[in-house]
Amino acid sequence: MKFMISVDCEGAACVTGSPGKNLSDSTDFTFACRQATFETNSCIKGLFDSGAKEVYVKDSHGQGRNLLYEKLDKRCRIISGQDFDQRFPVLDSSFTGLLMIGYHSMEGTKNGVLAHTYSSETYKNIKVNSIISGEILLDASVAGEYHVPLIFLSGDSKTCEEGLDKMPWIETVSTKTGYGRNSAVNRHPYSVREEIYTKTVSAVKNIKEMKPFRFESPAEIEIEFKTVFKTLKSLLKKRRGWKLKGFKIIGKTFPDMKSWNC
Ligand SMILES: [Zn+2]
Repeated sequence: MKFMISVDCEGAACVTGSPGKNLSDSTDFTFACRQATFETNSCIKGLFDSGAKEVYVKDSHGQGRNLLYEKLDKRCRIISGQDFDQRFPVLDSSFTGLLMIGYHSMEGTKNGVLAHTYSSETYKNIKVNSIISGEILLDASVAGEYHVPLIFLSGDSKTCEEGLDKMPWIETVSTKTGYGRNSAVNRHPYSVREEIYTKTVSAVKNIKEMKPFRFESPAEIEIEFKTVFKTLKSLLKKRRGWKLKGFKIIGKTFPDMKSWNC
């Protein structure tokens, strides 16, 4: 069995960021990277204890250089950096499952800690075939194109709700309950790590119940931006095939989600 763990940092236990800033510029970013590393290790251990032969860790936050690599379980392989032409490099139909650590709810989620969709400054909404989608669904759908199911998700309670809404079979670990974008009642970091291990083990045990998530093909993607400046200047120039669909909205039809990479 072969697995990929995609690791973001906002959803790790005791991470709340700073008002008006994204996590990378917040006072608890160093802690977030460390806690996300340890939460990932609990997940890696759960996978190998369940019979995994290979585990890839994708460092997914920001520019893809966040985790304390030398502290990660040495049995894993690490995908770091940015500008890959796929959201999950090396992921193909030989993988058994995708797992998400430290994820967060989509932009606009009430009481979602550090809620955003890929970029807090840039994106207001991303829709696929008219379904408003956050990073959980979008990333799960990329794996789904290879028939690889999302099997595990951790993040704040809103994150877990968002994942379970479309994929009720996944195992989840709630790391904290948000009381706003930058406030939460957290579980203790150690307790979260322990539960990530046990839920990872049960996710693999129940692998037959896990279903790949897919959007209908072709996938019509619409991105609504927060500002006109970003839409007109940076995006249409850089992105081939995208068309202006309305005020602050661009759209493109993809044959499927394999080539989606925000
Ligand atoms: Zn992030």
